[in-house]
Amino acid sequence: MFRIGVNFDVDYITAGLVDENYNIVKKEYKPTLRYRGFEAIVKDIAMLCIKLCKSMDLDINKDIEYVGIGCLGSVDTEKGIMIHTSWFEGFEDAPIVSEIKKHINTEIYIERNANCYALAESKIGATKDYKNSVVVVLGSGISGGIILDGKIYHGAFYGAGEFGHHVIIHDGEECACGRKGCWVAYASSAAMVRDARIMAIKHPECSMFKIVNGDLRLMSVDTIYKASEMGDNFAKKVIDDYVGYLALGLINIINILQPDVVAIGGKPVISGEKYLDKIREFVNVKTFGQIDKDKKTKILRTSMGYDSVIIGAAMLKE
Ligand SMILES: [Zn+2]
Repeated sequence: MFRIGVNFDVDYITAGLVDENYNIVKKEYKPTLRYRGFEAIVKDIAMLCIKLCKSMDLDINKDIEYVGIGCLGSVDTEKGIMIHTSWFEGFEDAPIVSEIKKHINTEIYIERNANCYALAESKIGATKDYKNSVVVVLGSGISGGIILDGKIYHGAFYGAGEFGHHVIIHDGEECACGRKGCWVAYASSAAMVRDARIMAIKHPECSMFKIVNGDLRLMSVDTIYKASEMGDNFAKKVIDDYVGYLALGLINIINILQPDVVAIGGKPVISGEKYLDKIREFVNVKTFGQIDKDKKTKILRTSMGYDSVIIGAAMLKE
């Protein structure tokens, strides 16, 4: 029997029809248009699921085992409530499951989207051979999920896994959360690009500046890596600093949780295995007490990409 997995994200809502082997048979998506308010957005999630079923000649109320939804922010999975997200207005303690049930009559489960990602990786992806794993995804923010003994670890109030907001520099860069020095302000891909822009303004002779023709809005992670490959020492400095910040946070996570494995996703590590090797070097040397080479937390790349939220959402009842 098919399930539907939904990735309810800032810019797009994507629904996927998932078969018993976790293949996505078909996907539909639409823009979130996030300023419309709770009821309109949630109705769109339901309508998207209905459209997906109709396109495959299925009846959502009969032919679908359940709908799983990966949501932004913290989520009360028992009560079916989105507790808090900084991305949407009107979603404080929002009863998303009961609202969707006004439109479709099937079982519905919700989860933090980063937890869906971590769950999918732990069942069929990079971390599948390990009981205890952490997934960290580097994007405009840093999202993370913790799997302990094969199950999602939620914390006491469903807020566990917010690695991006552990502080690595006292009184450091301002963070959107209101604090200063959070990991996300140094180790997200957005932070890497910000630092490259600052470097390029200070040193307009650098290759990064030339690649974007002085239009710093065009700066990207790929620009930085490309300039580095061309021998640009300023780009290399940006990368070296970034790797240091990223490794610092990973060491903290490993020192606290000591998982079997940490899998990292996102543009800064997708673009090259060699940067991951540098991170491993840092982490291996500095992690407390991991001396025996067979008893070290492994650092891998995530293997499933963006669709892992949809696939993980379709695993929520297991
Ligand atoms: Zn923060």
